[in-house]
Amino acid sequence: MDLEKIMNGLEQKHPGEKEYLQAVREVLESIEDVVNENPQFESAGIIERIIEPDRIFSFKVPWVTDDGRVVVNLGYRIQFNNAIGPYKGGLRFHPSVNLSILKFLGFEQIFKNSLTTLPMGGGKGGSDFDPKGKSDAEIMRFCQAFMLELWHSIGPDTDVPAGDIGVGGREIGFLYGMYKKLAREHTGVLTGKGINWGGSLVRPEATGFGAVYFAKEMLATKNDSLKGKIVALSGFGNVAWGAARKATELGAKVVTISGPDGYIYDKDGISGEKIDYLLELRASNQDIVKPYSYEFPNAIFVQGKHPWEVKCDVAMPCATQNELNKEDALALVKNGVMCVAEGANMPSTPEAVEVFHDNKVLFGPGKAVNAGGVATSGLEMSQNSMKINWSAKEVDERLHNIMINIHNACVKNGTESDGYINYVKGANIAGFLKVANAMLDQGIV
Ligand code: NDP
Repeated sequence: MDLEKIMNGLEQKHPGEKEYLQAVREVLESIEDVVNENPQFESAGIIERIIEPDRIFSFKVPWVTDDGRVVVNLGYRIQFNNAIGPYKGGLRFHPSVNLSILKFLGFEQIFKNSLTTLPMGGGKGGSDFDPKGKSDAEIMRFCQAFMLELWHSIGPDTDVPAGDIGVGGREIGFLYGMYKKLAREHTGVLTGKGINWGGSLVRPEATGFGAVYFAKEMLATKNDSLKGKIVALSGFGNVAWGAARKATELGAKVVTISGPDGYIYDKDGISGEKIDYLLELRASNQDIVKPYSYEFPNAIFVQGKHPWEVKCDVAMPCATQNELNKEDALALVKNGVMCVAEGANMPSTPEAVEVFHDNKVLFGPGKAVNAGGVATSGLEMSQNSMKINWSAKEVDERLHNIMINIHNACVKNGTESDGYINYVKGANIAGFLKVANAMLDQGIV
């Protein structure tokens, strides 16, 4: 495989799509040897086919504010690859959303979903709509207008969206309500649904729980555990709160959370009722980071900084892409970090990943660490198809096993000659092989 030729071609076709190009390069670099050892992949054009989405829908989303103004946002759905199952991946509502970001997320999703061992292809979608500061009625009208366009293109066996940044249980509810009305069907077309209407227990906390299960396995390779470890988290959204809760349950102390304008350091630990308080603030659409420091005076708010300057044993970036750069990585290593487990998608820049690898830090990439979210979405799809509900214990046990299996797949495919586990390589190779072989079986389509 001529990696540079493929990347040059892609850069020419999609100039400026930096997140997408970054994600493709990372995957191709780590699967290069496997592709070279398997000439059948090259002759079937697997690489050229896997790096381009099957199709992209883009549409305008006009909606009306509470004071009668018409606003037009942009909406997208990217159906990337369905070799092993229906397209599956979240919807992101955030002003930064553009095609490059959604294509990077959709591309990553192919390998993540393959790692879960469940039958799910890769997709992603979203809008540049900003839910912050909007009333519930405005969010509802926006979600309805978004679904009015999207519903033709999705379905329980075609494409099954879920949540992501800016899309939680409330938004999934509004989106589902409109789908149901238009399609005249009550079916598992979205995941992250409410418990009373087809949702799965444990789905809200699954990504964070899964990320901590994965970190636990990483530490176990060093005969260590989370007990007594100091954990630095970024963000405090769908992923971070589950991670904070599970890490605390397993004996760690979570000392930071963050938002776009800075981070909170709480040396006493962010657990129990403090997490409940943050969730209440989140549910009422309020800023969460600053009020926390007013409510718990031992905590300090550090304006304009990332939490990576804090001394910790385990770092879990759970906010957004490229939020942890080379300087942050160097600061973490200097402070003795043992394990970095990415709750978010691609939060570490390539230079930061290099620092972790060079210093033999346990580094788990998002596509492996945060796969518990989509895995539990897969479990929600199964429950919907079978029209049954599993108990929380049953779902959690399945999730835990899936995370252990993903970890094992990374160890199997990513252990280097000196015994260091390169989880990036392991996750990319394991995720790729299943999809590539399915594509081979299915011919040139
Ligand atoms: P949420 O919107 O629930 O939370 C995101 C959190 O990150 C919020 O606390 C937000 O703060 C903060 N944040 C957002 N942008 C920035 C920024 N530029 N700088 C610092 N903080 C920021 O999203 P999710 O928790 O769902 O998603 C977080 C990450 O995890 C994303 O990368 C997503 O793709 C990934 N992921 C999510 C899954 C899920 O199940 N939800 C599954 C797998 C991956 P504020 O609210 O104040 O803006």
